[in-house]
Amino acid sequence: MITGASSGIGEAAAKELASKGAKLVLAARREDRLKKLQEDIQNQGGQAIYKVTDVTSHEQMEELAAYALTEFGKIDVLINNAGLMPNSFLYKKQIDDWNKVIDVNIKGVLDGIAAVLPSMRERKSGHIINLSSVAGHVVGPTSTVYAATKHAVRAISEGLRKEEYSNNIRSTIISPGAVKSELTESITDPDVKAAVGEMYKGAIEAEAIARAIAFAIEQPADVAVNEMLIRPTHQE
Ligand code: NDP
Repeated sequence: MITGASSGIGEAAAKELASKGAKLVLAARREDRLKKLQEDIQNQGGQAIYKVTDVTSHEQMEELAAYALTEFGKIDVLINNAGLMPNSFLYKKQIDDWNKVIDVNIKGVLDGIAAVLPSMRERKSGHIINLSSVAGHVVGPTSTVYAATKHAVRAISEGLRKEEYSNNIRSTIISPGAVKSELTESITDPDVKAAVGEMYKGAIEAEAIARAIAFAIEQPADVAVNEMLIRPTHQE
């Protein structure tokens, strides 16, 4: 089950995992993108279904997990990938952006975990992969609120690991550097967008992160890849 599957890293992960035989449940808000991805995967011989889902809705996340369980009987892996990066200076008080990024990047991850844990705990098996970031390790100007959410994702993942490893539930943090995607489109301040755009000139393909996600999933059940930090070679 992949949130934010309609573009970027989520889409690339869906294609990578489908090519390896995973049965996918794709989630995001843009139905046209999900439908197209489902068709692409099916045309390549893979299996995917989708459900339009807003990760900021607790109810929709519960419905997504219920749909996956109805269709496939179990959820082996949840990839909490949906995210926004509306970077801005604190003094500009872009409070709407703060609320949005906290709702998607933190509460969405918590709701994803809450939606899948009951069935994973019952089966004593599962794997939850959370997308953090290099910004979950370092903070720069304008990335303060985004970095706070990505630090939170790492804290949540570690807490999850401590609470659930005895139930054979694996927890993985994926922390990418600059990756080509639509992420910078959520930046509303034009100056900040231009500055971040400069940094993203050296961005790597989303497939690099998809391969890392696949690597974590493919390990034997007694091996948990707890974190991977993946930067473009030329990123500071
Ligand atoms: P994209 O903008 O390409 O993808 C973001 C995805 O999140 C889209 O599929 C979007 O789908 C989905 N999304 C956003 N808001 C919601 C919502 N409310 N409900 C459901 N889905 C939502 O960016 P990336 O692929 O780059 O980002 C994926 C993850 O990787 C994010 O968590 C990001 O923070 C993280 N990351 C990315 C880096 C990069 O450089 N690209 C670096 C470090 C981390 P839709 O709009 O259809 O709902």
